[in-house]
Amino acid sequence: MWHNGELIDWDDAKIHVMAHALHYGTTVFEGIRCYKTERGSEVFRLPEHIARLYNSAKMYRMELALKQEDYSAAILRTIQANDLKHCYVRPLAFRGVGAIGVNPLDNPIEEYILVWEWGKYLGDEAIEQGVDVCISSWNRAAPNTFPTMAKAGGNYLNGTLVKMEAILNGFTEGIALDTSGYISEGSGENFFLLLQGKIITPPVSNAILPGITRNSVITLAREKGYEVVEQSIPREMLYMADELFLTGTAAEITPIRTVDRIPIGSGTRGPITTELQREFFDYVEGRVGDRHGWMTNVYEPAAVKSEV
Ligand code: PMP
Repeated sequence: MWHNGELIDWDDAKIHVMAHALHYGTTVFEGIRCYKTERGSEVFRLPEHIARLYNSAKMYRMELALKQEDYSAAILRTIQANDLKHCYVRPLAFRGVGAIGVNPLDNPIEEYILVWEWGKYLGDEAIEQGVDVCISSWNRAAPNTFPTMAKAGGNYLNGTLVKMEAILNGFTEGIALDTSGYISEGSGENFFLLLQGKIITPPVSNAILPGITRNSVITLAREKGYEVVEQSIPREMLYMADELFLTGTAAEITPIRTVDRIPIGSGTRGPITTELQREFFDYVEGRVGDRHGWMTNVYEPAAVKSEV
């Protein structure tokens, strides 16, 4: 893995328990996938993930040592050093050892890039069969508490409450409402609803992380001629929906088959979800050309990529 500019061994990635992040959750991070495509190994939407990381760091006044334009090379180098064909990439920056107290300003920033092989997040079957979800009793953060547009470690304390409650009650995932009672998102996924041919997803004002998969699905769906709107969704609309699905780097496009044990549509993966999954996987696995410039090849020089 990569640490503050150098490649280090996995076993040498150690931190002291006095690290600020461990006590106060002061981390920012990303989750990125590198796919094995027909053109070789390619990272999906790398510049967008790096931009989100730098925005998250900016909100928390964390200045990253590496310049934003050099970050992509550091990620590619880490994947290359591990000779991985496909993997999950986790850039992480956090407040390290210094004074213990809430003020983080003098604590050094530690930067890591971790890479490892990872399968389907919600299980192999989930992509085909769909998952059973519940509406969480936990809400997403109110807009004047802490920023949900940042991908920051502390946000995931809320996420773990949503996820644990769901799992312990026999569901795969929980969907959180925002503090006004509108649908927000899953513990690690954005949310989409299909009703009468229209695709609806909550806007950023409903306390979501602006997902890069969400943005990609909106683009692909519009290309297929679907109307996609960002609109607040009341809870009851879920039970009336024809199809529901979750999106995320880890979850990719995962259908939802029940909410609160109520079957959605036919109670299995719906036809439009299936079509969007096919569009998405054809794209990220390189069965179609990279018409949006979303893929960054890991091992081939850029010149070769443009010829494909
Ligand atoms: N919401 C939350 C809370 C997440 O953790 C994630 C995963 N990063 C997402 C949405 C989906 O975002 P993306 O598609 O960029 O992975």
